[in-house]
Amino acid sequence: AKADGRGTYRFFETGMDARAQARRLLEMDMRAALQRDEFQPYYQPIRDVASDRVVAFEALLRWNHPERGLIAPINFIPLAEETGLIVQLGELVLRGACADAATWPDDICVAVNLSPVQFKNPNLIASVTEALRNSGLAARRLELEITESVLLQNSEATLTTLHDLRAMGVRISLDDFGTGYSSLSYLRSFPFDKIKIDRSFVSELVTREDSVAIIRAVTGLGRSLGIVTTAEGVENDAQLELLRREGCTQAQGYLFSKPRPAAEVVMMLEQPPLR
Ligand code: C2E
Ligand code: CA
Ligand code: CA
Ligand code: CA
Repeated sequence: AKADGRGTYRFFETGMDARAQARRLLEMDMRAALQRDEFQPYYQPIRDVASDRVVAFEALLRWNHPERGLIAPINFIPLAEETGLIVQLGELVLRGACADAATWPDDICVAVNLSPVQFKNPNLIASVTEALRNSGLAARRLELEITESVLLQNSEATLTTLHDLRAMGVRISLDDFGTGYSSLSYLRSFPFDKIKIDRSFVSELVTREDSVAIIRAVTGLGRSLGIVTTAEGVENDAQLELLRREGCTQAQGYLFSKPRPAAEVVMMLEQPPLR
């Protein structure tokens, strides 16, 4: 802020358009929110399709804003990535998720999303190591979800980081599978532990035959390559039945639960199987 000579303060340069001002405001708000501890991971259960058991939770970031209420990531992650704040946010999620998961039964894993920007940060491996050490969580219980955009950038360094993470015992998942340009070639560039089939294929599963064909192809691919397949965005029984028939390994979606705060994980673990 700077004095404008009339005893009031102007936060913005004149000429900056409304959109830029809104972004600048949001950025300031985000920095303050980090100080005030307003960000926290929520958790959504992931079920094994064959046994119907919860096997993992995905950590999904929420901003608990004092005036605006709960804010979803779509409203702040893009700007956090642009400004680099995602590195701090990402570490917060990583630390929180590992600490929370360390209190869960030890066959339950936790999945954490990593932004491409975090891969440009040389401290990524150190952050993961520290989150595991401080929480006491076994590395095999941590899954890191990346999208193919991570592999698009600086792929040599990125691949080295991914291999190092995997050598530590951490699992690596390919998120939003099928939505990018060349998902198949990425399966050859790195030995992923898991493929997450994008929600767009699952939502049309019951109404579109081509979506069924795609699910069948991806689950078949997973089986041949020894990769777990997880369907995202499962909202009804018909979708789950179809996924079961096609041999999809895991399912995640509103059918089971929306993402909920850490305190509700125990309750989600006690939810009875659907059949
Ligand atoms: P994503 O990783 O693909 O996460 C799945 C999104 O689908 C979540 O949205 C989840 O709430 C939503 N979802 C789950 N089941 C259903 C369903 O049955 N129906 C529908 N309509 N939606 C469902 P959310 O939590 O709003 O997150 C959106 C995206 O923000 C995530 O997509 C991820 O790309 C990003 N994100 C969230 N948390 C983090 C984080 O901690 N770090 C990073 N880098 N990105 C994050
Ligand atoms: Ca994800
Ligand atoms: Ca996804
Ligand atoms: Ca997504």
